[in-house]
Amino acid sequence: MSSTVPGPLKSSYDVVVVGSGGGALTAAALAAGAGLSVAVLERTPMIGGTSAYSGGACWLPGSDVQRRAGLSDSTEGARAYLDAVLDDPDQERVEAFLAHAPELVAALEADDLMDFEWIPFSEYYDAPGRVPMGRSIQPVSIRRDQLDPAITELLRPPVERDRAGIPGRSTLSGGQALIGRLAAMLVRDGGTIATGHHVVDVRRDGSGRVVAVVVETADGSAEVGATRGVVVAAGGYEGSPELRALHGTPGDAAWTMAPRGTNTGDVVEACAEAGALTDYSGEGWFCPGLAHPDGSGTFTLGFRSGLMVDQSGRRYANECLPYDRFGRVMAEAPQRIPSWFVFDSREGGRLPAIAMPEGDPADHLAAGTWLTADTVADLAVSIDVDPAVLTATVERFNGFAASGVDEDFGRGEDEYDTFFAGGTGPNKALTPVDRAPFFAARFVLSDLGTKGGLVTDAAGRVLDAATRSPIPGLYATSNSVASVFGSAYPGPGAPLGAAMVFASLAVRDLLAD
Ligand code: FAD
Repeated sequence: MSSTVPGPLKSSYDVVVVGSGGGALTAAALAAGAGLSVAVLERTPMIGGTSAYSGGACWLPGSDVQRRAGLSDSTEGARAYLDAVLDDPDQERVEAFLAHAPELVAALEADDLMDFEWIPFSEYYDAPGRVPMGRSIQPVSIRRDQLDPAITELLRPPVERDRAGIPGRSTLSGGQALIGRLAAMLVRDGGTIATGHHVVDVRRDGSGRVVAVVVETADGSAEVGATRGVVVAAGGYEGSPELRALHGTPGDAAWTMAPRGTNTGDVVEACAEAGALTDYSGEGWFCPGLAHPDGSGTFTLGFRSGLMVDQSGRRYANECLPYDRFGRVMAEAPQRIPSWFVFDSREGGRLPAIAMPEGDPADHLAAGTWLTADTVADLAVSIDVDPAVLTATVERFNGFAASGVDEDFGRGEDEYDTFFAGGTGPNKALTPVDRAPFFAARFVLSDLGTKGGLVTDAAGRVLDAATRSPIPGLYATSNSVASVFGSAYPGPGAPLGAAMVFASLAVRDLLAD
């Protein structure tokens, strides 16, 4: 199904944006606000992609929003933090990110339709420059009826609703607020959003400039011209089993959080065919994924109690690690996928964690993605683990809960570990597993998207594979590019923060062109 808002698609625009996530709509809204004609082309019937599922946290350090909140944040502090957590980064891109993040926030907040606020959420590394309780910001929630219904009708619902086929809520928060607000800015300023428009190719003219994209719709295929440039912000390749295998990306297309039918990396591949440089490192924004009866996996964070064991019944990490770091440890050994999360009945048989979504425990139990038993030893038998090993693991863990010290993995020592924890013992993050019946939930390796793809410079320009110089008219951001953060996930909002900054830098370059 395709639709165009506010009117029919023309044959050419100043700027064509591929995708409709946070990076895409930042580019589109800023370009339209600067007076350029803009079309956003989105392959699915809904806008927002994974960005609409997100919490809308944006890691955009050093802005007025952090100052207003009285945080000890600064560009210098963020630089120190990135220096400590990034491994061999492209310094030019890192500096561009740091320098431009505050300007981007100021530019967006200058618009009546956009307001940000600080959200307390710990950063993911104990490193110099870390801000206590984090420096991430998010768009302020907005009521659906404050925005143009033509836009909100196209807005992808939050993940737990979208996956169940239920419409979104009357208040747009997090990623929904981000997408809704940016889309409203775009359309107000004359931009067009076309859903059901699948970009399958890019066209270069005789001089090598990218001048158009090829789109497929239910009615056939057509070219849409781009006189100033094309901005590719079409997610990663997380939904493509073939590309995941080719680039050695752990996890599985069935376990990714990207909405079904969205991000398969095809437009990045088309750009590569047209001569663009790519860098695939197999990287993603990883997380433990609660396995569901339909074979999917869902992003889970904030374990309040319970412990994760591998297929031998042994713990292998601090379960309260930031989710990407836990996912990476999970990916290190085959006997960790699947893992089993063992918990007790202190939360009435529900998972003591935030799973997006969790599903119905009864469905899990019926399908065997969760098992239950009156003793830990019986639970072990049901998940095919040696009862003596699992019993010893749980007893050792319970000893740590009593002493308040996780001698094996240091759970509860870092600020992040205790952010979601509410335990009442000597260590908030260590609660004993001692209330029958006991449960085991199957966990796989999920992700919030991959982050390898087009190679861009500090202005968001895509480089040519042959010359290593920018391809005129071709820009990229979001998970369609090799991430400025490499393998690191510095803090809440890093995917959207980077996507939005390089979208904005691309627009600045487009305007100067
Ligand atoms: P998307 O947002 O998925 O957008 C890509 C869009 O491009 C899709 O709509 C897709 O259909 C479209 N598309 C793909 N190919 C084509 C094509 N060929 N033609 C036309 N259209 C195409 N990150 C944060 O920074 N902060 C958070 O708070 C946060 N919370 C999260 C919470 C959850 C539950 C989840 C699942 C993720 C979260 N993330 C968060 C991660 C973040 O949402 C994603 O990594 C990021 O939004 C991806 O942005 P994107 O633009 O690359 O892709």
